[in-house]
Amino acid sequence: MVKGHCMRCKEEREIKGAKQVKMKNGRDAVTGNCMKCDTKMFKIGKLT
Ligand SMILES: [Zn+2]
Repeated sequence: MVKGHCMRCKEEREIKGAKQVKMKNGRDAVTGNCMKCDTKMFKIGKLT
């Protein structure tokens, strides 16, 4: 389970459908959607 900060909920939420991506600068990031409101979420770091 991956958690991130949801901009709409303004709270920590579980990232639904979390996917590992690479940013342009080569850093790892995770994208997905908020479990509660379905807003797109983005988090820097590795999927564990
Ligand atoms: Zn949310």
